[in-house]
Amino acid sequence: MRCLGLLSLACALGAVGQPQRPADTFSSSAGPVKITVIRHASLMIEAGGKVIHVDPWSQGNYEGLPKADLILITDIHGDHLDPKTIAQLRQPSTAVIAPEAVAKTVVDAKVIHNGEHTEWGDWKIEAIPMYNLKRGPSAGQLYHEKGRGNGYVLTYGATRFYIAGDTEGVTEMRTLKAIDVAFIPMNLPYTMTPEEAADAVRAFHPKVVYPYHYRNADTQAFAKALDGSGIDVRLRNWYY
Ligand SMILES: [Zn+2]
Repeated sequence: MRCLGLLSLACALGAVGQPQRPADTFSSSAGPVKITVIRHASLMIEAGGKVIHVDPWSQGNYEGLPKADLILITDIHGDHLDPKTIAQLRQPSTAVIAPEAVAKTVVDAKVIHNGEHTEWGDWKIEAIPMYNLKRGPSAGQLYHEKGRGNGYVLTYGATRFYIAGDTEGVTEMRTLKAIDVAFIPMNLPYTMTPEEAADAVRAFHPKVVYPYHYRNADTQAFAKALDGSGIDVRLRNWYY
């Protein structure tokens, strides 16, 4: 935060320095997993002394955060693939796992395609298709074509985390099994509405769900649409 103009009062009250990043810790049979909200589609996962950055983007505030042991990238768009921030978070030993389209830019990334899986440390990493069903920049085109990007299911111990990427409520999402924690996008025109997102989430029924990649979408409408579902909806500020 810059201490300018109307923000000067907030600065004077101590709102400067380390941002108060929302974070939650989940227990798993392999130990705790801490997930920190950074911004938009960017998040950080810490477990077993290792750090995973997902879709790191320069619009997030990385000040004071640890560098990555693993960087996971979902797609080629600038809010997911940001070479500058990837370089900033990399160490010589850092691995990058990404879809093939991303490896054109991050040439040493380990590529996994939709439907494939790999292992990294104590994590199992599965690539889940992410794509538009109907929304695109013009007739006959889609913002995200099937096969280009990867959502991910990350398993640690027996706990399964789903990071959907930029997608509509596709069959591959709706038929996921045993997801503990899900991160679901909802912004137009690129992904889907909060109501469509809630409908897809009801279908695979994670224990916990976070709206992310939502911009100005109405996340309260998403929460309301899941009332009575038994799903723990966690609204966090991803644009602090
Ligand atoms: Zn995006």
